[in-house]
Amino acid sequence: MTDYDVLIAGAGLVGSATAISLSRLGLRVALVEPSGSTVSAQPERLTTECFDNRVFAIRPSTKRFLTDEQLWNNISEKRVQRVTRMHIDGEGRERLTLGAHDAGIVELACIVENDNLWRSICSRLDDSVARLHGDILAIDQEPGLVTVVTSKRKVNCKLLVAADGANSVVRRHCEISVGERDYNYTGLVANFTVARPHRGAAYQWMGAEGVIAYLPLPGNLASIVWSAHDEFAHGLDEDVLFERLSKRYNPLGIVDLVSRIGRFPLRRVLPQTVTSGRVVLIGDAAHQFLPLAGQGLNVGLADTAKLTGLVKQYGLEDPGRLAVVNRYRRARKEEIEIFTYFTEVMHDMAVRGSDCYRTLHNIGVGAVRHADVLKRVLIKKAVG
Ligand SMILES: Cc1cc2nc3c(=O)[nH]c(=O)nc-3n(C[C@H](O)[C@H](O)[C@H](O)COP(=O)(O)OP(=O)(O)OC[C@H]3O[C@@H](n4cnc5c(N)ncnc54)[C@H](O)[C@@H]3O)c2cc1C
Repeated sequence: MTDYDVLIAGAGLVGSATAISLSRLGLRVALVEPSGSTVSAQPERLTTECFDNRVFAIRPSTKRFLTDEQLWNNISEKRVQRVTRMHIDGEGRERLTLGAHDAGIVELACIVENDNLWRSICSRLDDSVARLHGDILAIDQEPGLVTVVTSKRKVNCKLLVAADGANSVVRRHCEISVGERDYNYTGLVANFTVARPHRGAAYQWMGAEGVIAYLPLPGNLASIVWSAHDEFAHGLDEDVLFERLSKRYNPLGIVDLVSRIGRFPLRRVLPQTVTSGRVVLIGDAAHQFLPLAGQGLNVGLADTAKLTGLVKQYGLEDPGRLAVVNRYRRARKEEIEIFTYFTEVMHDMAVRGSDCYRTLHNIGVGAVRHADVLKRVLIKKAVG
């Protein structure tokens, strides 16, 4: 007899969403967080005067999944901004504009704060999901069973899901090797008030100083994500950031910085496999890549959707059986690799300002501009 059908390591956005989705199938699910972790505590109330500096571009397919799983129910909609157009600019590069209407859809993405999404997901975490604390010390597998030894107790389950982020301890215990690349780049995030109405447009600029994205927020607010070389990014304090942005790329006319500046190291984490026996990796434990296309969480929640679908179809009796795990591995491989290498190529093309790259970029933009079909395909691929 097992303690749980599924044990999920990591109660971040992806782990928590997965726990709720699997418990809705009637499975006995538990979430484990490290001892002393405060992540799983209920977040503070959203304050009206200040937007979280951590925001996500959520693609329509992700929003549909969250809505179907009732994880979007408690979102504060007035804090969510729809993106209907995206302009891509760069040093010596022609502008490419992608509009939702080009693909016959109503939005390319919506921008939602971390806190807003986190609160909505947490509000669905009820007693049907057990909450455990303890550091994972060992993982043993035998036919039909995974035993997880934590600093507090031993837990038996049929399926262990690693949602414990890019430095996954579960992945290490399973001895899954990882292809890593430190880009020596930092993702810098901050919110500004802006002078010009954004009208639902997002902007992205590529050049030698990195990639700058402006994501629209409700009212006269925009969130920026600047992926810049470590040294450069760490020199960008409040005043310098304002000055550099104003000079380099300022399509909306930034007025005031209205949040703290957040900094995230950027690296590639690509495990050799996303399964090992009765263990599956999801979210950043399974893939971490550059945030250029704003897709990390989207791909993580696509892992959740795939795993839940497979368990529903093949694994209600035993969610860790081969029919689930092997299908999951095969199904996720392609999307994970595409996003990892696509963002890397985009990044390299952006920061290496050679004429060759610029020419390639401009040829690509010209082709997309003049071929409606290509534009539609590109948008449909990006929005999922
Ligand atoms: C600058 C920037 C901008 C981004 N913008 C976007 C965007 O616009 N759209 C998008 O889709 N994505 C975006 N991303 C990516 C996105 O932030 C991540 O992909 C997503 O947050 C990963 O969520 P996760 O739950 O998998 O991992 P995490 O958020 O890292 O959560 C991991 C959880 O595991 C827990 N944990 C850690 N160790 C253990 C352990 N030993 N045992 C148990 N639990 C453990 C942690 O406490 C945590 O709760 C961006 C990323 C960056 C850096």
